[in-house]
Amino acid sequence: MQAAKITRLYEKHVLDVASRRLVLVSGQGSKVRDSEGREYLDFGTGIGVNCLGHAPPALTEVLVEQSRKLVHTSNLYYHEGQATYARALNALIGPGKVFFTSSGVEAIETILKAARRWGARSGRFEIITAKNSFHGRTLAGIAATGQEKVRCDFGPVMPGFVHVPFNDLGAVEAAITDRTLAVLIEGVQGEGGVVPATAEYLIGLRRLTRKSGHLLLLDEVQCGGFRAGRFQSYQRILEDIKEDFMPDGVAMAKAIGAGYPLGAAWIADPYSMMMDYGSHGTTYGGSPLACAVGLRVLELIQAERLDENIRTQGEALRAGLTALSGRRHIATVRGLGGMIGVELAGITAAAAVRSLADQGLIVVPAGQHVLRYLPPFNVSAAEIETAVEISRAVLC
Ligand SMILES: *Cc1c(COP(=O)(O)O)cnc(C)c1O
Repeated sequence: MQAAKITRLYEKHVLDVASRRLVLVSGQGSKVRDSEGREYLDFGTGIGVNCLGHAPPALTEVLVEQSRKLVHTSNLYYHEGQATYARALNALIGPGKVFFTSSGVEAIETILKAARRWGARSGRFEIITAKNSFHGRTLAGIAATGQEKVRCDFGPVMPGFVHVPFNDLGAVEAAITDRTLAVLIEGVQGEGGVVPATAEYLIGLRRLTRKSGHLLLLDEVQCGGFRAGRFQSYQRILEDIKEDFMPDGVAMAKAIGAGYPLGAAWIADPYSMMMDYGSHGTTYGGSPLACAVGLRVLELIQAERLDENIRTQGEALRAGLTALSGRRHIATVRGLGGMIGVELAGITAAAAVRSLADQGLIVVPAGQHVLRYLPPFNVSAAEIETAVEISRAVLC
């Protein structure tokens, strides 16, 4: 079908809630092709999802193999894939229980519901989250999100959320009241401009919440799943710190499915017991197909050491872009692993994204003034060099 026809059909039949541009047709590895036959280096990866690049053979294989056996069962039945994938996630995080979802925000909802249930005993319900955070688009997700723009005209906003500045332990401490139940933060704020939590902040939050009897919940939907070079971003941020750190809940999605819609909520024991029979549910979550994909993605990343690759290549990208900082449109560069943010000067993120795409590089904006580079985990050194070169040509 002609590209113009496709965009016309969108106008007529699809909710106009996103600013869309290219008509994409096919992809291979780090490259994606549009309707004009133009090829792009894709460092947007569908907002940090396509961690193995486009059309990875392993994904095709597992989808074909598993779909020949069992695609969907509902959660009224047991199947091997959910058992083994949950065991694998627990081995990477800690003693707890997993609930599978089909998206990031459902994983967030799950950890929020577990927290609310735990608080119901004591009449506490308030959850402290960070300004500039992003936690998804459901009614609870937009209430949790620390950005006014996502809530605009969707009121009344679900009560029970308080927003404080990120990376500011004192602000959390000051916000705690006798209604407080939990603190929820991203390990690295994504939509909010690629801002990693500091080690001191994470350790401080854990000490504070342990002492005050509050839950610490982590939104690792974007920064987790090996994006930061370790399974969860907090594990990466704290890797040189001796002190034990275990959150009480973790939400995951995006990269863990490599493009297949897959999310997971991990809840630490003993809080996991709060979610007992009948308290929560999903029709699609944790299907044989989804779990087979999740497990295969995990095994592949570990077998091919793609966690190390994205760490090395992410560092190279960061170094390459940092060398350009201070020149024309690049103010500063920050990030962790394969999640790099470029703070722009004198150009909006939307305009920069367009100009970069015109020169063959796809990245995504994070707010109005920051570009987000989220390369696939199997990206090559040469592709990193190309991305830096295009960025230099367009932004400097
Ligand atoms: C993308 C994202 C979500 C929401 O995930 P969906 O799959 O879009 O529901 C939640 N939190 C963070 C940090 C995200 O980046």
